[in-house]
Amino acid sequence: MKNNLLTLSLYIFILTSAVTGFALDLPAESTVPGGVAIISIQTLDKPNAFFYEKKVMVLGSSNNWKAIVGIPLSAKPGIHNLQVKSEGIETNYKFEVANKDYETQYLTIKNKRKVNPNEQDMTRIIKEKKLISKAKSHWSNNEAISLKFIQPAEGPYSSPFGLRRYFNEQPRKPHSGLDIAAPKGAPIVAPANGTVINTGNYFFNGNTVFLDHGQGLITMYCHMDSINIEEGIQVKTGDIIGNVGLTGRVTGAHLHWSVMLNNVTVDPLLFLAQD
Ligand SMILES: [Zn+2]
Repeated sequence: MKNNLLTLSLYIFILTSAVTGFALDLPAESTVPGGVAIISIQTLDKPNAFFYEKKVMVLGSSNNWKAIVGIPLSAKPGIHNLQVKSEGIETNYKFEVANKDYETQYLTIKNKRKVNPNEQDMTRIIKEKKLISKAKSHWSNNEAISLKFIQPAEGPYSSPFGLRRYFNEQPRKPHSGLDIAAPKGAPIVAPANGTVINTGNYFFNGNTVFLDHGQGLITMYCHMDSINIEEGIQVKTGDIIGNVGLTGRVTGAHLHWSVMLNNVTVDPLLFLAQD
């Protein structure tokens, strides 16, 4: 009898979790440029949400939806607006983005062409940019998304996300990912279930893999030595996708790992369990 009661209460708990969305695996919230905002939406039907015209991930259940919004590094501190469309009504959900001062990093790259590409390199870069942009803005409808990741490579963090960067004393775009210092050949694993949507050898990023986890959540792995998988393949958390290397614009072997939400790069640390 006692066992039956326990089973029943467990069953009710699971049922309640499913109904209320209690079991959602959400990233840590950080409403700063390069961070993630989590906005609660109470509508009956699943709403469509947009941030600067880009579709935003929405998870949860009726009357308890969560929009998981990637905030661009270029966002100005102040009030920003999430556009929510549901049941024919458009509502603006306002939220505040606080300032964050990212550190500056100065790097010296021996291969000068990787900092000041020649004409031939530029033709290649422009061609590759289109493929990279396409992968970053990929959208697939998936409701079973885990936003709690495992670390894709073993090793200490060598460069955090968001650093303002100078290469050979010339200003370049801020650091769009997290660098993990792992030796050449170390395995790189999928941090969550996903689908391989692009692999390639790119001028700056070297050997690269893009994983789609659903609803605009894309992860990217750069400077790889070897790639073990192909486009279209589904991967599970912990599956090996390749090995750490030093291809592309690098100062040494490491994994550069980027996380994209609604087509903007956000801090990967927000998706890792904090100790
Ligand atoms: Zn990096």
